[in-house]
Amino acid sequence: VKLALNTGTLGHNIEGAGQGWSPEQVIDACAARGIKGVVFWRRELKGRAQQVGDYARKAGLDLPGLCRLPLLTGREAAPDHEVEAAIAETAELGASVLTIVTGGVEPGAKGTAKAVVNLTRRLAQFAPKAEAMGVKLALEPLHPLYAANRSCVLTVREGAEILREIGAPNLGLAIDVWHVWWDRTLPQSLHNTQVFGLHLCDWLHDTADMLTDRGMMGDGVADIEAIRKAVHATGYTGYEEVEVFSASNWWTRDPGEVLDVITARVKDIG
Ligand code: ZN
Repeated sequence: VKLALNTGTLGHNIEGAGQGWSPEQVIDACAARGIKGVVFWRRELKGRAQQVGDYARKAGLDLPGLCRLPLLTGREAAPDHEVEAAIAETAELGASVLTIVTGGVEPGAKGTAKAVVNLTRRLAQFAPKAEAMGVKLALEPLHPLYAANRSCVLTVREGAEILREIGAPNLGLAIDVWHVWWDRTLPQSLHNTQVFGLHLCDWLHDTADMLTDRGMMGDGVADIEAIRKAVHATGYTGYEEVEVFSASNWWTRDPGEVLDVITARVKDIG
């Protein structure tokens, strides 16, 4: 496994969560354990994207991604200039891929159809701008329980259709175990689709919170091997990014311990 840490595993996707390590502390701890890639959240960079990027490269680490584009649809849809700023920040950091969480139902609308139309239009608009800055965009289909307020793209098949409709070379999918584990059509849905990210975690048998109760690989019921196999079959050879949002368990622990557990678990899955 080409292992990367998504710092959401340390709680860094949410202000005030986790133990509050700086990007430099995270980079040093990953380098010490042979974790070769780090995916930060934009809120951690605090205007220091280039500085953090340089520090990571000096430590011998790659930055395979950055989380994430502001939402493109729904009540919190961002204006164009905020979307463009996120793309520019990705280039400044030197990260290869910016992850897209689409946003949900448009204000006043019922259902997700209108959001998908607007999403497709905005993605087609921003993809060439990202391409010009050397940034790839990874559309992440989310679990259907997020349809109202986070994502109008709910299945891998639908994500792949949007990619085909837009046809931009720098637009691919991010496949996250938590969002797709239930979908037995994954291998067919990924056929002829480019993948720019693979996010690892597990689905706990009795999930208590729909955002922050993800399991560590091996602790839940997802067929992680089957998902990895389906993604690798597309030709994906990139990083496998551990992304475990876990307020009541992993975020309460010492980040060094969490990184040790990740390293051991990833060895188990080959
Ligand atoms: Zn993810």
